[in-house]
Amino acid sequence: MNINQNYLKLEDSYLFSTIAKKVAEFTKEHTEKQIIKLGIGDVTLPLAPVVVEAIKEAADEMGKRETFRGYGPEQGYAFLRESIKNYYSKKSVELESDEIFISDGAKSDLGNILDIFGLDNTVLVPDPVYPVYVDTNIMAGRKIIFADANESNEFLPLPDENVKCDIIYICSPNNPTGSVYTKEKLAKWVDYALKNDAIILFDAAYECFIKSHELPSSIYQIEGAKDCAIEFCSFSKTAGFTGTRCGYTVVPKSLIKQGASLNKFWVRRQTTKFNGVPYIVQKAANAVFSDVGQLQIKENIQYYSNNAKIIAETMDKKGIWYTGGKHSPYIWLKCPNNMSSWEFFDYLLNNIAVVGTPGSGFGRNGEGYFRLTSFNNTEKTIEAMKRFSDLI
Ligand SMILES: *Cc1c(COP(=O)(O)O)cnc(C)c1O
Repeated sequence: MNINQNYLKLEDSYLFSTIAKKVAEFTKEHTEKQIIKLGIGDVTLPLAPVVVEAIKEAADEMGKRETFRGYGPEQGYAFLRESIKNYYSKKSVELESDEIFISDGAKSDLGNILDIFGLDNTVLVPDPVYPVYVDTNIMAGRKIIFADANESNEFLPLPDENVKCDIIYICSPNNPTGSVYTKEKLAKWVDYALKNDAIILFDAAYECFIKSHELPSSIYQIEGAKDCAIEFCSFSKTAGFTGTRCGYTVVPKSLIKQGASLNKFWVRRQTTKFNGVPYIVQKAANAVFSDVGQLQIKENIQYYSNNAKIIAETMDKKGIWYTGGKHSPYIWLKCPNNMSSWEFFDYLLNNIAVVGTPGSGFGRNGEGYFRLTSFNNTEKTIEAMKRFSDLI
C-alpha cells in the first residue's frame, strides 16, 4: 500500500496552539490581570428560543412510532430546501429546490465539492485566506496559485487576465479580513470565470452580516453567475449552529461543463458518500426561516455587529487602517508602528492583556496585520477597547 504523499506536503498550523501557549504563560505570571479574548473565532450567543423549541418537538417526533424517521433524503428534506429557496427569492435570486443541497456545514462541502473536479485544475486562492481552501487542495495534489490581497486593493483582489486558473475561491464577507466585494467587483470575477471557463466556489458563510442591499449577499445576484459559480452557506454564523452543524450548497442546473451537469455529479457524489443531516437538525435549521426565527437571529447578529462597531470606532479614533467591521464580525487592522503580526500580538498581551489573532497565520500577505473579532460580550469588548485606546 502507498500513503497519500500529499499529506506530507501539508504545513502544520501552529497559529492557535501558539496563541494558547502564550496566553497560558502570561496567565501564570500575571494572575491579577483579566485577559480579554478578541481572537474568538466562534459564536458565543446561545441558539434562538424558536430553534431550541423546534429541536425539542423534533426529538419528540423521533420518539414516537408514528412519526419516527430513519434515513432521510441525502440532499435534505423538502421543507428545508423550500425555505432556503424562499430565502433566496427575497434576495431576488430564483432557485429550484433541487439546486439546493443540505449538509452538515460549509466546511465539509467546501472540501467535498473537490471530488467532482479533475486533479489537473489550477486553483486560485486569495492570500490571506481561510486555511481550508488551501489544505483541501494540497491533500488532493492540485496546483495552487495565490491572488494577492493587500492594502492597495483593500484586501479584495480582482482577476488578472494574464493569470490562468480553473477553480477560484471567493469568500465575501471575508474571513479573516472582513472585507466585502461590491457587485461591480464581484462581476469582474464572474466575467473572468465565464471567459476562461473557470468555476467560482463562493463562500457566503457571513452573508447575514451584510446590512446593505447594495452589496451582494449571494453571488447569484450577479448576472451570469449561475453559469460559473457554486455557493456555500451555513447556519453556523447566521444562527449560532457551529456546534449544531447545518449548512447548504447551491449547485445550479445550468452549470454544464464539458457536456456534464455539475448538479448531477454532486447528486451522485452526495448519494454515494453522504447520508444526510439529522431530521432534528434540519427542523432546527428550518425554524430559523420562520418570522420569529428571523427576528431572533437578527438580534444576535446585531449584538455582534454592535461589538464590531465598538472596535471599528476605536480604530477610527486612533487613525489605524483597517477593513471589515461594518458587514462582518471581523476587524482586520494594520499593526501600528510597522510591528509584525506576532510583535503586535505580544505587545497587546503583555501591556493590556488583550488577545487577538496574528494576520500572518492566514497567509504571507497577512504579515503586519491583526484580526480582532466581535464574538466576546459587549462589556469586555468595551473594556478591551478602553485599554487599547490608553495604550496606543
Ligand atoms: C465559519 C466559516 C464557515 C462555516 O463552516 P461550518 O462548517 O458551516 O461551520 C465557512 N467558511 C468560512 C470562511 C468560515 O469562517
